[in-house]
Amino acid sequence: MVDADQTFVIVGGGLAGAKAAETLRTEGFTGRVILICDERDHPYERPPLSKGYLLGKAERDSVFVHEPAWYARHDIELHLGQTVDAIDRTAKTVRFGEDGTVVRYDKLLIATGAEPRRLDIPGTDLVGVHHLRRLAHAERLKGVLTSLGRDNGHLVIAGAGWIGLEIAAAARQYGAEVTVVHRGRTPLHSVLGPELGQLFAELHMEHGVRFHFGATLTEITGQDGMVLAARTDDGEEHPAHAVLAAIGAAPRVALAEAAGLELADRADGGGVRVDERLRTSDPDIYVAGDAASFPHALFDTRLRVEHWANALNGGPAAARSMLGREDAYDRVPYFFSDQYDLGMEYSGWAPPGSYDEVVIRGDAGKREFIAFWVREGRVLAGMNVNVWDVTDPIQGLIRSGVPVDTEALADPRVPLESLVA
Ligand SMILES: Cc1cc2nc3c(=O)[nH]c(=O)nc-3n(C[C@H](O)[C@H](O)[C@H](O)COP(=O)(O)OP(=O)(O)OC[C@H]3O[C@@H](n4cnc5c(N)ncnc54)[C@H](O)[C@@H]3O)c2cc1C
Repeated sequence: MVDADQTFVIVGGGLAGAKAAETLRTEGFTGRVILICDERDHPYERPPLSKGYLLGKAERDSVFVHEPAWYARHDIELHLGQTVDAIDRTAKTVRFGEDGTVVRYDKLLIATGAEPRRLDIPGTDLVGVHHLRRLAHAERLKGVLTSLGRDNGHLVIAGAGWIGLEIAAAARQYGAEVTVVHRGRTPLHSVLGPELGQLFAELHMEHGVRFHFGATLTEITGQDGMVLAARTDDGEEHPAHAVLAAIGAAPRVALAEAAGLELADRADGGGVRVDERLRTSDPDIYVAGDAASFPHALFDTRLRVEHWANALNGGPAAARSMLGREDAYDRVPYFFSDQYDLGMEYSGWAPPGSYDEVVIRGDAGKREFIAFWVREGRVLAGMNVNVWDVTDPIQGLIRSGVPVDTEALADPRVPLESLVA
């Protein structure tokens, strides 16, 4: 058992960090828990920032992981608005804040998340160029979308990943004109492949979004600090009153790297390299959430997962490891998205090249179906679109790893549960 006089420090107060702190207490840890975050807001969840909160349908208070009083009640020492700028692994200390406060740790969790990739082109310093990661960004974007909607303004979005598409949906709901510029030929290609990516392109086009595929932004032009247009590498110019960069996120690994911790290859998604217990090359330092690259036995590969469920479950898993538990972290990756009246959940991992077939169960035309990515009859991933309460059997199929009859898989009359070995 871990001594009561031990100190566990958590760097990063996102979902992974806050859930790790909670788990330390629910698992009975009575030592010091210190949670340090460079944001001034209490730990919050990011999914509403591009959905309900951005659309004005969810209150600000609803995004927080815990109510503010929860931290003191559970004796969590919370340091907000303070950056950790160094880890000394020999002295087992972290340094944070403007005054360079140093605290000693027995175990350290790095839950520093990710940050939006920046457009590296002329014009990104104009005031109408935006990113979305933080609550303050969402507040600002809400104001921008409101004025664009009111004035028939144009928003150009760079990137047709999940966040780009969710913001496109929100912007259309505000009444803004939207053009999405995307390097690939279909949205979400790296996750869904071409078959299902097209479905999202059609959904957005029906709602009035224009796509410019196979192109990248090369310049944002403006006058007096304001955005006027966005140019692409094929010489086109799109009118724009605002530009949103949604070209992915990079794991925040600078602190870990400076401390000499092993990183994962960029080709594997980057992040800090941890084992199946989320432990780094230093046995007293753990990583969870967007920043962690962990080996996943089910897919026989190293994964870095930038999704809510991985922070929700990975933070607690790291906390249990810090307390000496030996359980491997092997959750089936899961995420969700909402765009217009389409809601979806995706479980598994099946990038293009890993599957040989996509099996559809239900009516893709009506956007009420489940798609399965299958290799040699084995289900690698499943996405339910406007069909609910099927995550357990989908994950059961993925976990079983046993070939299934794909005709039965495609037949909605055959209960999914009956196919799980
Ligand atoms: C707009 C948006 C919408 C999303 N929607 C969905 C969705 O619909 N479904 C889904 O599955 N996932 C979604 N995600 C992804 C999901 O929110 C992330 O996977 C999750 O937030 C990761 O949690 P985390 O705790 O690892 O990192 P973060 O939430 O990034 O938290 C890390 C925290 O650490 C702080 N920090 C970093 N470095 C330091 C330092 N040196 N010192 C102190 N503090 C530091 C950061 O500022 C941040 O506050 C969305 C993300 C965004 C941005």
